[in-house]
Amino acid sequence: MLSHYLKAPFQFEQREIPIPEVGPDDVLIKVKACGFCGHEMIQASYASEDWTPFGHEFSGVIEKIGANVKNVAVGDKVVVETSTFNPLSDAARNGRVDLDGPAAKIIDYIGGRESMGFAEYTTAPAALCVKFDSMSFVEGSMIEPMGVAYDLFKVAGIELGDDVLVLGLGPIGLMALQMAKKAGARKIYAADLSNCGHRAELAKQFGADEIIFTDKVDIRNYEFARGGVDKVLLTAPPRLIEDATYCMNLGGVIAFLGIAYGPAATVSFDSNLVHHKKIHIRASDAVPALYFPACIDLVESGMIDLKSLVSTTFMLEDTVAGLTEFVKNPQTAGKAIMVTDKDLLL
Ligand SMILES: [Zn+2]
Repeated sequence: MLSHYLKAPFQFEQREIPIPEVGPDDVLIKVKACGFCGHEMIQASYASEDWTPFGHEFSGVIEKIGANVKNVAVGDKVVVETSTFNPLSDAARNGRVDLDGPAAKIIDYIGGRESMGFAEYTTAPAALCVKFDSMSFVEGSMIEPMGVAYDLFKVAGIELGDDVLVLGLGPIGLMALQMAKKAGARKIYAADLSNCGHRAELAKQFGADEIIFTDKVDIRNYEFARGGVDKVLLTAPPRLIEDATYCMNLGGVIAFLGIAYGPAATVSFDSNLVHHKKIHIRASDAVPALYFPACIDLVESGMIDLKSLVSTTFMLEDTVAGLTEFVKNPQTAGKAIMVTDKDLLL
């Protein structure tokens, strides 16, 4: 079967490998669609010195199940969580499965696998498989990043009438923006660099009231209708937390997600400003992966639009060319999705 590997800087390779064996608690999935993730962009840019399989945002059909598997059957359409909580952990038993953290790694999709989502088949622990019904496989491939967006949205605690600033208009920011709108945000400000291309248009389509180009306007002095905003959804580089502190109303919440490397990971802010404005800075780290059923329901019921986020699709066999082209302009692009069936192409 075909399987793909990446290595920094921006090298992609296709290999022919045997279809993987299925362990007793695992399933074999015929991949239908797989998205390229921002984290894989970082791996491809500089973080992977050796060839590594990739692709954790995928949907497919169960082809085979291991001897112990009961929760899914051959023929089921599934999406796969990147990791889940250990039901026997102290955190889970205390009702905080979200605080399982590294213990979640006992049931993990990422790591130690010969092939991942950018392949014809992949194995996965059956415990991570979540069945779906009516959405498309391409939409299915975006449930994993949508779970990340949903976690950010929940961490922010958006309420009816809040003014919201969405800082960073990548696919996850645009999903969280839609959730804020549906949750009753009064006004939504969407901010990114002016070269974000089509993404600003999408933000408007999803309900943003004003677009702010952060390289053209000093966001710290932006004239927000209420002087500031109540909630910030930040998926831009974490150093922008400092900018966000200047945009807040009293008691506001800055929810952020994002991993920075090296000096970029250190963020400074004026503690007096944060103190006097009673600002909450909250991290959303979507580990273990949660909310897949809620996200499937939001998509299947038509509340959240994932289709508009797809900017490019390509066939499995054209993955190397497809991704090589995509990584040239990630800032202006939306989501790149590999499919294994011609009917699923855009
Ligand atoms: Zn991802």
